[in-house]
Amino acid sequence: MDFVRPKKHLGQHFLKDENIAEKIVSSLTGKTKNVLEIGPGMGVLTKYLLKDESILLHAIEIDRDSVAYLTVNFPELRGRIIEGDFLHIKFDTIIENENFSIIGNFPYNISSQILFKVLEHRNRIPEVVGMFQKEVAQRIAEPPGSKAYGIISVLLQAYYDIEYLFTVNENVFSPPPKVKSAVIRLTRNNVQKLDCDEKLFKSIVKTAFNQRRKTLRNALKTFHFNPEMINNEMLNRRAETLSIAEFIEITNWVIVEN
Ligand code: SAH
Repeated sequence: MDFVRPKKHLGQHFLKDENIAEKIVSSLTGKTKNVLEIGPGMGVLTKYLLKDESILLHAIEIDRDSVAYLTVNFPELRGRIIEGDFLHIKFDTIIENENFSIIGNFPYNISSQILFKVLEHRNRIPEVVGMFQKEVAQRIAEPPGSKAYGIISVLLQAYYDIEYLFTVNENVFSPPPKVKSAVIRLTRNNVQKLDCDEKLFKSIVKTAFNQRRKTLRNALKTFHFNPEMINNEMLNRRAETLSIAEFIEITNWVIVEN
């Protein structure tokens, strides 16, 4: 097989630009030996990852044609490429116990689900370098106060430092996607546990942003706040203006009934 015919439903847009591929791979800072590439496709990143001797590369690819292509063209990867769905794979079947970093030009149709899975396993994943649709990348990296700041920004920024690295044009892909892309880096911060009930934090953040035009007092009506806090000015604000620390503070005002 000479090439993989791109399939739209798998979000296949193959990167053609070698310089950009090299730049993405060199954005990993070497926090772990194990690196997991999501969706290698025809291996444009894989090639540079395999050249780096400090890396032990693993790859997961859902597309049978791509796996066949990679097996022929990158025999070094044999045994460490899995044909499967990243969203359903149990990490221990690929890399047992050890930490690993993640890299990929991600399929845009599942990029938020990839990030939620990263969050779930954050204590094993110190670094993620990935290509996203530009709007998604901006949303993730955005500080409080901006329109794009939302649920995923808050949840990720609670545990990761996020850097917007560079923007990538449509025309370096085959076929070109309809949107611009961007590469970002997530670096795990040193927060082991938030200073509040983490489940409640998540639920407060989600509820607050689901009614982002309302003040928090109205958006969070279903939560039972400590009566001393109910007149606090912070509740006059909207979700998009709150920092992570302020969301934690508000979470601690909720009275949990058992
Ligand atoms: N990394 C390649 C391909 C990017 S396109 C490049 O830069 O050229 C996205 C890739 O993700 C495709 O190869 C697609 O088959 C793969 N993919 C899509 N959904 C996936 C999933 N759920 N799990 C693993 N791989 C997936």
